Amino acid sequence: MTSFESLMDFSEFQLNSDGLLPVVVQDFKTNEVLMMAYMNEEAFENTVKTGRMTYYSRSRKSQWVKGETSGHFQYVRTLAIDCDKDTLLAKVEQIGAACHTGNRTCFYQPIVGNDYDAKNPLQIFENVYHTILDRKAHPKEGSYTNYLFEKGIDKILKKVGEEATEIVIAAKNPNPEEIKYEISDFLYHVMVLMAEKNVTWEDITKELAER
Ligand code: AMP
Ligand code: ZN
Ligand code: ZN
Ligand code: ZN
Repeated sequence: MTSFESLMDFSEFQLNSDGLLPVVVQDFKTNEVLMMAYMNEEAFENTVKTGRMTYYSRSRKSQWVKGETSGHFQYVRTLAIDCDKDTLLAKVEQIGAACHTGNRTCFYQPIVGNDYDAKNPLQIFENVYHTILDRKAHPKEGSYTNYLFEKGIDKILKKVGEEATEIVIAAKNPNPEEIKYEISDFLYHVMVLMAEKNVTWEDITKELAER
């Protein structure tokens, strides 16, 4: 447990109309924006004192140590206040996922624009996998992924086999578009299988790296 000292007192901050301080949370290494939440004075004091990000839950109206039930703690690296002292920026070491949905970041739903080409293209594997896990946890009406989970492992395995065969057929097709679609179909179904068998991309990449 790392205890810190703050150069500023909570009373110096400009609180919002609920008397709370909004907190933006970033990964200290990558600067990825992980989440935003609120602190009251008690949560701020405890964050500084314990080195564990502690927030104020507006729904539960009480203090909340991030990770106390999930184990996904956030260890403080730095805290900074913005120009007009109304927003805190925390850089943290994030254990596991910041979001309660299991996503690394809470901001996994693009709604305007597309920065896909600015990202590591392999990130898409993580994103699709987490969407599949999210469907498993919170089934969605009309979802093909949920249909597969409902049918069960034998249906998923059948699809993986079929899609593998379709890759073989597409590879013999002179149209180069075909193989792209079939490999994508195959990888998606493999990810459904991974989710069903609790295998993560980290398990796979570790295994490959060690070979
Ligand atoms: P945790 O702090 O990760 O053990 O999660 C405990 C509870 O805090 C969850 O059930 C959610 O209600 C809430 N929670 C956790 N992470 C977030 C988040 N990133 N944004 C909003 N609420 C969260
Ligand atoms: Zn400014
Ligand atoms: Zn501000
Ligand atoms: Zn979230």
